[in-house]
Amino acid sequence: MGDLPPRVQERLEQLSRKLESELPTRIEEIRELFGSARAGKGPALRELRNRIHQLAGTAATFGLDSVTIDARAAEKHISHDLESGTERMSEFTVSSVETFVEKYGGGTDTTHATGPGPRERVIMALAEAGNPLSEMEDQLGVFGYAVRYTTTLQDVGECVENGTNGDGCTNVVVFADLSFFAGKPERLKELKDLRERFPERIHLVLVAENHDFETRLKSVRYGADAFFQSPVELAQLVDKFEDMLSEQMSEPYHILVIDDDPEQVSSTALVLQEAGMITSVVSDPEYLFEIMVEYKPELILMDMYMPKCSGMELASIIRQNDSFVSIPIVFYSVERDQDKQLEAIRCGGDDFLTKPIDPEHLVTSVRIRAARTRAMRFFMERDSLTGLLNHTNIKTRLNSEIDRARRIGTQLAFVMIDIDHFKGVNDTHGHLTGDRVLRSLARLLQERLRRTDLIGRYGGEEFAVVLFNTNADRAVTVMNEVRERFSRIRQNSGTAEFSVTLSAGIAVYPDYASAAELNEAADTALYDAKNRGRNRVILAGT
Ligand code: GH3
Ligand code: MG
Ligand code: MG
Repeated sequence: MGDLPPRVQERLEQLSRKLESELPTRIEEIRELFGSARAGKGPALRELRNRIHQLAGTAATFGLDSVTIDARAAEKHISHDLESGTERMSEFTVSSVETFVEKYGGGTDTTHATGPGPRERVIMALAEAGNPLSEMEDQLGVFGYAVRYTTTLQDVGECVENGTNGDGCTNVVVFADLSFFAGKPERLKELKDLRERFPERIHLVLVAENHDFETRLKSVRYGADAFFQSPVELAQLVDKFEDMLSEQMSEPYHILVIDDDPEQVSSTALVLQEAGMITSVVSDPEYLFEIMVEYKPELILMDMYMPKCSGMELASIIRQNDSFVSIPIVFYSVERDQDKQLEAIRCGGDDFLTKPIDPEHLVTSVRIRAARTRAMRFFMERDSLTGLLNHTNIKTRLNSEIDRARRIGTQLAFVMIDIDHFKGVNDTHGHLTGDRVLRSLARLLQERLRRTDLIGRYGGEEFAVVLFNTNADRAVTVMNEVRERFSRIRQNSGTAEFSVTLSAGIAVYPDYASAAELNEAADTALYDAKNRGRNRVILAGT
């Protein structure tokens, strides 16, 4: 990665850290699959190979060389087993996968890990005495933020530089009262220098008791990214922190390249990677859907002619699947015959790029379309109040997660959540406060669950969650923790503080074998929870 432009380099580094922090979860999934494969569940071995293969590829992209090497070794053994047609693991396979899992998995229970892990997000509170954040510290902890107090900007610099666990650069929010900087040009200068040294990494939030024009102007001149009048309301603050530290918007686009020619693929992939995008490659269309579900690419760049089937046929197959209608397919081919090009577009292609193409043109065409996909996806899939998956989406996703669980022979938990006496919250504190309570639950769920879990707003004050690869016991434990934490959030209406509770019903696949059955069972369990006094989690059938 030596010659990449610094911006690209930095993005890759950011992603590499993210991958490292996700590694335990991914290894844990591999460990479970390994267990299933060992128990002789046929498709699990194939899935195990795919997972290890994907991990090897991702690790290679990000320079985690030892992971790549060990993963490739394990993959090779599995492939050998599969080719020999036994669907059983040889002892070489067993030992190589075991070694791999032990080496990188750490042997600990990392699923639904609690407490601040590598994802810790830091708020540096600057104050000589009595920073306004001190009162909210445990509340912020509920949302996964760690608050550090300091009186010097030097500490801020160190935190940014060294990261939270000595793991390199991190982004921080600096939170201070305006008076910390007022009349202190040397502090302002120091802050300015830091921000120049670590561009985009330091976000400044200032508070003051006044919010007159003069004060606001000052805050802008000090370089504040956000200004709040104290006392600050927790929900607003968390919203702001979330925006500032969210990586979602700065994540690179994911492009899927479908081509059977390895040289062509690597040159295309390289051009896109140098522009800061992530690429997955499919040379055998058989794995196409799996990769699309797993990585949700934002654009497909497709060759027209491949041995197994043509690009047009493949496009038609993709378009037959409702969940993939919004993904742009761009054909990329030497084909110059306009009739053929039109035919390709008729089959569901969105555009046609003719090879050879100027790399810059390729990057621009791809980027524009991928950006559109991302924006459209967000609005199509998300609920506008909470940013969670909307009703339709969580339902479709439940179906594909059930398919996935069936394929690899694992369990999943479907959870329905309903806030208790929510009507009362609206009646007592107003609809706006009610909305904020809804958002606080959404944020909490996003914080406490794994990235691979699906979280949706089912409607009104009802939420739904899909916990993949999770059995009943674990689901109950996790949801009880969420329930407890939620009840501990001090909700604020501006004039009063109060707390709110929730009830949840859980149903587990394969005890309930279809989306409809899971829904019904979880719903029944939820109403059980309500009838038994609310503020509780009930597992279907218990
Ligand atoms: P229970 O403990 O039995 O669940 O009682 P509840 O009051 O929570 O349940 P009920 O279904 O009677 O009331 C739900 C309330 O949720 C009624 C509705 O006004 C409110 N609500 C639904 N959607 C929204 C929303 O988007 N924002 C706000 N603020 N309130 C909403
Ligand atoms: Mg309710
Ligand atoms: Mg309800």
